[in-house]
Amino acid sequence: MKKTFSARFLGILLGTALAAASDRAQAATPPIFSAITRSGFSHNDLAPHEWKRTVSNLLQRLFPGALVRESAEMVTMHLWEPMLKNGKILSPVQTIEFSVIEDLNANAFALAAHPEEGLAAQVKITRPLFDVVQNESELAFVISHEVSHIRHDHFSVQFPASMLTSSQRDRITRTHQRWELTADEEAVARMRGSNFDQLSSLEILDRLSERSAFLKTSCLHNHPALEERLENIKTSLLDQPVFGFETAPALHDR
Ligand SMILES: [Zn+2]
Repeated sequence: MKKTFSARFLGILLGTALAAASDRAQAATPPIFSAITRSGFSHNDLAPHEWKRTVSNLLQRLFPGALVRESAEMVTMHLWEPMLKNGKILSPVQTIEFSVIEDLNANAFALAAHPEEGLAAQVKITRPLFDVVQNESELAFVISHEVSHIRHDHFSVQFPASMLTSSQRDRITRTHQRWELTADEEAVARMRGSNFDQLSSLEILDRLSERSAFLKTSCLHNHPALEERLENIKTSLLDQPVFGFETAPALHDR
């Protein structure tokens, strides 16, 4: 199988294989965050209307000016924020579709819009992620991280790795790593603006990395080391007084 360097899938941890999306209609259960203080969620109990309500509430809080609608299989957000690329405005408004897919790993990832095919940008959340997130703030971090990838057009053309020189591969890797740090920073800033608990960003990243067997056994080609992401977020948090952290250590080069 050809190995490709691609940013088509920008996961919160690692892009996963895209599983067939299916929303299983299931019996109604209590709102998914009601069980936080007990044992987290059981994704088997997660009915479509529950994740949709939760995600649309979060989006309305994170993006107050956006138009958020629930439909049969997804939540759609029309965001009156410009789509940026290298500081240039590509589009004044963005449409992003959020849906839940079946997958073995807890993850979320972004897919680029393809306007010529009439396809909006998408954020896919894998069902096991709802087992791992323990509160709204953690899910808010994951979602705003993915939206940042879309807003900044963090997508690159796919090339088979064999077509690239090692220095080209290194440059692509560094770019992808920088994108991850940027998306983390923007997610934390957005959480701050919407009064979510910013420390949750550290907790969910840490927990996701612990829970992901795939992450432990895979090379982190496109993602900076977890430690680097955590330190970067802590520095973002230190933009305002936050208790519980020591002074920010020296960070990566930019
Ligand atoms: Zn990412």
